[in-house]
Order: sequence, then structure tokens, then C-alpha cells
Amino acid sequence: MTPASQTASAESKDEAALARHIGTLASDAFEGRRPGTPGEAKTLSYLAREWQSIGLRSGTNDPANPWFAPVRLNLAKPEVSTANFRRNRRYVEVCEDEVRIFTSGLRGLTSDARVLFVGQTAEFPAGALAGRVAVMLADHAGSLEQRQALFDGGAVAVLSVVADKPALAQIAEMRNEGAYRLDGEGEDRLDGFVSAGAMARIVGPERWRRWQSAAKSPGFRPQQTGATVTLEAVSAPADVLTHNLIARLPGKDPEKGAVLVLAHWDHFGICAPQSPTDQICNGAIDNASGLAVLTELARKLASGPPLERDVYFLATTAEEWGLLGARAFLRDPPVPLDTIVAAFNLDTVAGAPRDAPVAVIGKGMTPLDDVIASLIVKAGRQPGNDDFASEYLKRQDGWALLQGGVPAVMVTSAFGDSAVLRDYIDQHYHSPSDEAEGLELGGAAQDLLLHEALVRHFADPDQWPVATGD
Ligand SMILES: [Zn+2]
Repeated sequence: MTPASQTASAESKDEAALARHIGTLASDAFEGRRPGTPGEAKTLSYLAREWQSIGLRSGTNDPANPWFAPVRLNLAKPEVSTANFRRNRRYVEVCEDEVRIFTSGLRGLTSDARVLFVGQTAEFPAGALAGRVAVMLADHAGSLEQRQALFDGGAVAVLSVVADKPALAQIAEMRNEGAYRLDGEGEDRLDGFVSAGAMARIVGPERWRRWQSAAKSPGFRPQQTGATVTLEAVSAPADVLTHNLIARLPGKDPEKGAVLVLAHWDHFGICAPQSPTDQICNGAIDNASGLAVLTELARKLASGPPLERDVYFLATTAEEWGLLGARAFLRDPPVPLDTIVAAFNLDTVAGAPRDAPVAVIGKGMTPLDDVIASLIVKAGRQPGNDDFASEYLKRQDGWALLQGGVPAVMVTSAFGDSAVLRDYIDQHYHSPSDEAEGLELGGAAQDLLLHEALVRHFADPDQWPVATGD
């Protein structure tokens, strides 16, 4: 064989190994890998068995919980929503399908609070909103920031105005799922949605018409509505116990720090129970592919020359619910976070063909960039479109790590070319059709080799001499 065909056959062997893992992890037997379900148990025991056979050790650094670090999640499932508006001492009739109130805790209540219409305004003098219920216009650029500013300004609740009853029903259906939080984290907040029709009755149709159009101009000042409201929301607790899987490949000189490689294991489980054909979101690309590369990377690193630094392998839970597993890892890390010299996230790795360009998500945010750029070239790969790829910065576990001061990037050919990724996002992303069959793994197999080079480089204190632990 010529050297080139040797490389090609090694790469197709890697592709086959990746396909095997993806085929298993994304099979219907794993039920879409939803945290807290039998799919979690299957996923974690499959990975732990693979990693043990490769020669990894438990990386939890917690003798009471080897391999599997418990992560407790709180879910508040909405049950009761009440809103009673009054103006000029009279009740204003607002029906259940015109207003819906939610609490992020178990019970939220505010009595006879004055209602202030703020339109799209997001800047307030300190204390201006204390004790008020703020009513804002939804669906404008910056509405998320506005909502935050309203709570920061002291609002006891924030109501967003939606166009009509069907729009409200749609939002309510989504919010009725509840949102998971890390145990003991987050503030209890009262918020909700009210239809424009209800607002017209609460403040008077003439004023409402005037305010609605005025609210879109920059000089708009918040308006006292003269109305008060009593809001109550009650949710039922539905907590989930789930786990991060953490392993360690011991280095010769762990005092010199560690390299972290991670991939989220969770997905959406039985996401389409009504579907006659396919009920399961198998998450083949998202993120069985990342787990496959993580596992084969462990094999290559463990079977090659020994490393100086420790390498930690982390399969995170609840990424899909807001990077919660990664944040749990930060809250309770097995080693001090400032000893982690580099972290590489593997998320949504498949889809790109061989020789696809490689993007770096998180470029410009760590000291790792120059080395990564030179190793991409050294591997014979082309640099990809980092600006496009970085649109996904906050939607991957590396973002949580960056918030915790860990230099984390995602080096990926799957995000290197916008056309390849957009195709996947449009057709299969978070849907039952993200399946293992026929996946393009050429780029993923090359990314695997690139990550071996990256980890070897950063695990070597001579090549990457960083002072750690002080
Ligand atoms: Zn996802």
C-alpha cells in the first residue's frame, strides 16, 4: 500500500468505529437518551463499559460516586394560573385563554400590584419598577434583554403582550412543559403573557391603540395604566436525578494540570409520542456523533505514547435543557478549574465530508487559537468560516466552561461550511429524523485525528507550558 492509501484505510476504519457507536447510541433501544429515563441508564453503562475496556479510570474524584457524578435537576411543572385585573375599582373580565401566568419556582403571588405599560423600553431609573407589574411588547429584537432589565429594575412580574388567543395558546403549550434548572439555582420569577385584546379592555381601547403605535418610537415613555392586578401561579415539582459520566486517562505528571474533552450524552427522548411513524428523537448527529468521537479519541490516546498531563473525558447530561450538566461540572469539578489548560467540546460532529474545512467555535476567547490554527494546517485541513460557526457559541457546553474561566473551544468540520450545517439544521435538527443510517462521517474521522493531535499537544507541558494551580 502507498502511504496515502494507508491513511485512507485507517480513516475508513475510524469511520466504521464511529458508525458502530452512533448506531448503538442512536438506536431505538436507547429511547433518545433522555435524562432520568431508562435511556440514560443504557447510554451511561454503554459508555462506561467502552471507556473501562479502553483503560480509562473513574474521573469523578469522588469515591462515593465513581464514574457517574449525580446531577439533580428541578422542574416546576405549571398547574395553576390566575390573573385578576382591576381598573377604577372594577374588575376587568379577562378570560383564561387571554392571560397565562407562570412561576419558575413552585408558587408565585403578587397582590394588587400597579400595572405599568413599558412598550419596548429597557432603561429605567433605579427603583422605578419596584412593586410594579410591567407589561411589555413581545417579539421585538432585544425582548429577552428587556425582560431581564425589567426584573433588574424591580418589577414583581413581567407580562408580554401577544397578538391574539392562538398565539397565547401556542406559547402556553410550550411553557407548560416547564423548564429544568440545576438544584438550588436560579431565582423564582413570575411572568406571563396577555393578549392584545385583553390589554385593550384593561386600559381602554382608545389608549391601547395610541400606546401600541407610540411604543415603537424611540422616545416612548412608560405609561401608568391605572390598573392593578393580582397574579398567582403554582407549579408542581418534578425533579430528575441524572448524571455526568467522568473518566480520566492518568498522565505521568498530573501536577502539571489537565486537558478536558467533552460531549453531551443527552437528547430529547420520546419527543413525538403522537407520531404514527417515529416517536423517538434518536439524536444521531446530536450528539451520538460527539460521544463516538470522544470514545475513539480515548482509545487512540490510551493506546499511543503516554501523556504528561491527565486527560479528563466528560459526557455531560442535560445540555439540551440549557448546558445544565456542564454547569454542574463547574459547580463541583473533580480538579480545580484553573488546572484545566484546554477543553475541547465535541457536539454535532458528523455530516461533513472528508476534507471539509474546520471551524473553531470560541475563537478569540482563549489563548489556544494560534496552536489550534497551526495544528489544523499541519493536519492538512483547511480553516473554515469561524464567524458563521461562532453563531453557535452560546448553544454548546463550551460556552458554560468559558463562563467558568476554562479555556474551551469546539474545533469542528461540521460547522466549517454553512451549507452543510444549514441542511442538517433545516431537515433533521432536534427531530425524529436525526438518525444513524447513512451518516456522512468522513469529516468526523478526520476531526478525530485532529483532536488526537490537539490533546497530545496541550497535554505536554513542554509544548504548552502553563502555570497552573495558582
Ligand atoms: Zn441539540
